[in-house]
Amino acid sequence: MNILIFGPNGSGKGTQGAIIQKKLNCPHIESGAIFRKNIGGGTELGKQAKSYIDKGDLVPDDITIPMILSRLKESDCANGWILDGFPRNKVQAETLASALKEANINLDYVIEILLARDIAKIRITGRRLCVNDNNHPNHIAFDAIKPVEKDGKLVCRVCGGDLSTRPDDQDDAAIDKRHDIYYDDKTGTMAAVNFFKNHGDYKVISVDGTLSIQEVSDAIMKQLA
Ligand code: AMP
Repeated sequence: MNILIFGPNGSGKGTQGAIIQKKLNCPHIESGAIFRKNIGGGTELGKQAKSYIDKGDLVPDDITIPMILSRLKESDCANGWILDGFPRNKVQAETLASALKEANINLDYVIEILLARDIAKIRITGRRLCVNDNNHPNHIAFDAIKPVEKDGKLVCRVCGGDLSTRPDDQDDAAIDKRHDIYYDDKTGTMAAVNFFKNHGDYKVISVDGTLSIQEVSDAIMKQLA
């Protein structure tokens, strides 16, 4: 099954992507995580992307689009994927749709997590990243995924690994900029969502992001046939 998952930063899209990955046993491809891995590894791609990410800007399409299209060609994607964080604008949506069409790959579902901007912003600052696995959800404000305390510090609730915060999650201006891009329905991410809603025969699942992690997950799984 090939799935896109949309949601503003802070909506729990990464958490839901990780849950779906486990249930469907297919790769959860997160554009932001690929960039962060490259930044951590000091690669050329990471160097190019870092200044954009730190400010909350989109990494230019000529870097991002080929990166994702080539990731989708890797062998682990042959039996399905969940793409999270891409497309992020209208051009990326159109390019992805035509690349999939050309490769005869069906897009089975488009999931959209709905969340008001002010709530999304509050949620962003509380999330924590596990250094061992990006798919280990940790958030200091949600009981279901609260990190655990060990030797006086908070560690990953799944594996006990160290936790970090993303610099762009603690920077007010960067958060606002990411949300400006997300909620922009002219050329930004909402324009990408609307592209799938208004073109072709895509099956769009819209879920209320204010519900609990379990409820959001149940609402999604119920509709993934
Ligand atoms: P995320 O982890 O999805 O919040 O992404 C972190 C950052 O990576 C974003 O704020 C962008 O700077 C960059 N990024 C992630 N996905 C994309 C994309 N599809 N297009 C451009 N930049 C992206």
